[in-house]
Formats: sequence, C-alpha cells, structure tokens
Amino acid sequence: MLDLLNLEIEKMANLNFLCECGKNHKVNIENIVVQKEVTKNKTKIFEMINKENLFFVADNNTYKACGENLLKVLREENYNITEYIFQGSNPLIPNEESVGRLLIEIPKNASLIIAVGSGTINDLCRFLSYKTNVPYIIFATAPSMDGYASTVSPLIVEKFKKTFEATYPKSIIADTEILRKAPLDMIHAGFGDILGKYTSLTDWELSKYVNNEYYCETTVKLVEKARNMCVENAEKISRRSEEVIKHLTEALIISGIAISFVGNSRPASGAEHHIAHFWEIEAISKNKPHPLHGNLVGVGTVIVSMIYRLMKNNIPKEISPVDPEYLISLHKKVGSTYDPKELGISKELFRESIIHAREIRNRYTILQLAYEHNKLEKIAKTLTEKFYA
Ligand SMILES: [Zn+2]
Ligand SMILES: [Zn+2]
Repeated sequence: MLDLLNLEIEKMANLNFLCECGKNHKVNIENIVVQKEVTKNKTKIFEMINKENLFFVADNNTYKACGENLLKVLREENYNITEYIFQGSNPLIPNEESVGRLLIEIPKNASLIIAVGSGTINDLCRFLSYKTNVPYIIFATAPSMDGYASTVSPLIVEKFKKTFEATYPKSIIADTEILRKAPLDMIHAGFGDILGKYTSLTDWELSKYVNNEYYCETTVKLVEKARNMCVENAEKISRRSEEVIKHLTEALIISGIAISFVGNSRPASGAEHHIAHFWEIEAISKNKPHPLHGNLVGVGTVIVSMIYRLMKNNIPKEISPVDPEYLISLHKKVGSTYDPKELGISKELFRESIIHAREIRNRYTILQLAYEHNKLEKIAKTLTEKFYA
C-alpha cells in the first residue's frame, strides 16, 4: 500500500496509482529534487541533462542567482549550448513579445530547454516546450508560486491574462541554498500561495456538500500536510532558514502535483485566487504593476476566511473554516501583509472584487454560496468598512 503522506518528494516523480477516490493519479515528472547545493552536484546534474543541444533561458536576475554558475558547469561538459538571457530592469512579462523572442532564439536542433527562474520563466519555457515538443527542465530560483509542477501557462495576450494548455517539466531542480537567498517578497509570495490552500480546500469541501462535487480525501490530506509543515515553521521564514525554505518549496511543488492528480486546479485555487485574479486583471488591463500573485493570494485568503465567518450560519455544519485571526497571526510571524490597502488595492476595487470575483470562473466557492443567499453586497460593505474605514 502506497503511503503517500510520508513519501519523500523525490519519490513522487513518476508516481502512478489507483486512489481510493476511484481515479488513477499520475505524476509525469521524471525527477523532482529539492536539495541543498544540488546545483553543485555535477554527477546529478549531468545525469538529468541527458541531451546534447541545450537551449538555456534565464533573465538577468536568475542568471546572477543560479544561471551563471550552472552555465559554467555545463560548458565544461560536451553540451552544445545556445543561451538567451532576458535583459531589462522591469519585471519580465509573459506576453506575446517574450514568447516570440524565445521562438526566435531557440535553435532548430534543440533537444532540451534549460529554464532558470521562477514564475515567469517557468511559464514561458513550459509553453515553449509544449509548442515545440522539446522537453524542459526547470532550475527553480525562488519559492514564490505553486506553478513548478503545473501543466498550464498563464500568459498575457492583448493585455489580458489567459491560461494556456502547456506541459510538465521533465525535471524540477530546486537548490535550497539558492532559494533561501531569493528576495523576501518572493518568499512571502510563496507563503501566501500556500496559505491560500486553507480556503481553497474548504471551498472544495463546501462544494462536495452542496453540489456533490468529486472530492479526493487523499489529495486534500497531501496538500494539508505540506501546508502545515510550512505554517508550523512560519517564524523561521524571515530568517530564511534552510529547513523552512525546503518545506515551502516542497509544499509549492506538491500543490502542483495535487492539481495534476485531480485534473484541474480545484485543490489549489478557490475564492482567494478568484479575488486575487480580479485585482491582477484590473492592474494588467491598465498597464499598472501589481504585487506578486502569491502576495495577493495571501491577502485574499484572509478576506475569504472572513467571508466564511460572516456566512457561518449558512454553511454545512461539517465544515470548519480557518479563523481569520489565525491567518493574520501567521502573516505577522513571517512579516507579510494581510491588508489589501497595503497592496495598493483601492476601496472601490476591493468592494467590486468581493461582489464580482465569483464571475471569474465557473467554480463553486463561498462567494457563490453568499451570492445565492443574497448576502454578497452586505458582506462587501462590511469588509470594505472594516479595511477602509
Ligand atoms: Zn484520489
Ligand atoms: Zn496560486
């Protein structure tokens, strides 16, 4: 019998089993390595890079953090390497221009894409890999989001964020010594994305009771355990302890694995993500910079936990949502913000997001339940007054 909950992350690669929920759960990733100084372990690296013609992609930040040394190591071996390093001081945007640039630069004989980065580089290379049928390996540089093990790429096309079908990485390689040196707001973002699993899992459970939606207990337990390992060590995050960065990175990868188990993002994304997306979309459409996805989700999670409390007489009695006070105490421990004002969300946008975020996608959450009980407007008013008094 597979003891999934106690399985080391490396052993989750290539997993394939029939679950009690009736589904066959599969992980199509060949290698998952989360290890201190793994990028210095040449034997391991060369074993995973078993192709000749490499297309190496980074941006100037990830090049400094990891790419430069990695490239040096690879050059000493007999690889043919074509590299493309995105330049510029503004954050890289996964839009038509960036995708086009990679298509121009990728050599025709490329047999493996080496992506060095986090969210954006990963999304771009995953999409490139999918379109060109050239496999890719991601060398993670920040524990900032849960997309490492995902199979979709959110891209910005005509200033609108859209999720495109893409593919698995062949390998995920995360050197915790590099990850712990990532900018603190990126680490906070990863933590925020993990906090989101409190409300995303509750939303899933809610829909199980209300709509009899498919629900996998094993997947839920897997995500909960990974999440709990992070929050139990939350106070070590600001110290960038290697141990908690490892837990955080593993939890982010496991969240992606949970998505692939279920076939959609249900375990990882609920109302907190819909609210965060609402804020993101607004900024993107106006060409304004916005905080990292996970920072928005971390705040969205607090808001959604408050909505659960305001709806406490209307939810099934079996459900016990997380306390907003607990989430706020976790934010305080790591030093991240829980206040939408501090993220630059205007009062009007905040109010609108509570009322309209449920329209972002067809997925049952507490927002839908509140809407059906005709309580959304009132909740929006209460919470807006609470944060913007
Ligand atoms: Zn299952
Ligand atoms: Zn997320």
